[in-house]
Amino acid sequence: MTLNDEIIGIIYHPDYLLHTQDRHPERKERLEHINAALKKNIPQDRVQRMEPEPAEVDDIAMVHDRAYIQSIEEACRSGRGFLDLDTYIVPESYRVALLSAGGVLTGLRSVMDHEESSLKKSFAFNRPPGHHAERARAMGFCLFNNTAVAAEAARRDYGLERIAIVDWDVHHGNGTQHTFEDDPGVLFISTHQSPAYPGTGRVEETGRGRGEGFIVNIPLPAGAGDSEYKLAFEAVVVPILDQYKPELLIISAGQDAYHRDPLAGMSLSEGGYYYMAEQLAGAAERWTKGRMLLCLEGGYHLQGQAGVIVQVLNAIGGWGLPKAEQIREREPAGHIQRKLEQVIETQKAYWDL
Ligand SMILES: [Zn+2]
Repeated sequence: MTLNDEIIGIIYHPDYLLHTQDRHPERKERLEHINAALKKNIPQDRVQRMEPEPAEVDDIAMVHDRAYIQSIEEACRSGRGFLDLDTYIVPESYRVALLSAGGVLTGLRSVMDHEESSLKKSFAFNRPPGHHAERARAMGFCLFNNTAVAAEAARRDYGLERIAIVDWDVHHGNGTQHTFEDDPGVLFISTHQSPAYPGTGRVEETGRGRGEGFIVNIPLPAGAGDSEYKLAFEAVVVPILDQYKPELLIISAGQDAYHRDPLAGMSLSEGGYYYMAEQLAGAAERWTKGRMLLCLEGGYHLQGQAGVIVQVLNAIGGWGLPKAEQIREREPAGHIQRKLEQVIETQKAYWDL
């Protein structure tokens, strides 16, 4: 079935491969596999490729302290090393991190300036990822918070008042939550494995002050798969998006909830990711004039993630390409349903669920 048969923007820069470390899960081979899969499996007339410029320091400074930005620049200048247990840098990392944020900004402009670009949806294949980066702290393979920069730029440059960020990475997007937790102008919805890294994202974390009710955490026990994510989308994610009525939908697209991912324990199939992407594209159709910006986060099974991304693009583009794995329907596991009921009970204070 063809939904809309759209042309999708693809943002990529060859220098994204320069930030890398052998044997580290977050290495350049992730993008090389994605590139190969996009070439092989996607009709090339369905995508429009764009190459970004680096973000300006002023762009990054909307969500990070200037002293922190400078400290990353200096650390990279002095060579290779680790900023925390698992977040490495190489001499090129500072420039590549600016280029990574620049990728989401290029994506943002492509979907907002629809008249010029004729694109409503773009996927930035940028590295390093961003959703764990805090205001003044690198962590979890992330240096600058790319989606947070995109949301702030959407407000600064286009005057948007309601932006939704949906984070389907298997890890909680702590940096994004902390950036916007007192801010009703950004709705943050995260599905993530719990317990797992980084340990935040409990059901009770619902925002603070004016932002109370605009953080929606859906922590799911290991083993959650297509049926449980489907239930979470039907019962929580989509109803809340439909009540918030965002003007732009940003996806922190991490493919590490895929069942073959080596760093996590979830059971999503390609079909499950297709379903989530299709649901979000539907919400975008209803509220954002179809505008949807996807930004690469995690995903560490090289072939697996590449296949998932082809299906995500297939879903949002409505291209009707064949799927290797269909959604796996089963009765959602009882203990996971109970966790979801807890989310619903908590979020009922803010939303009609
Ligand atoms: Zn992740």
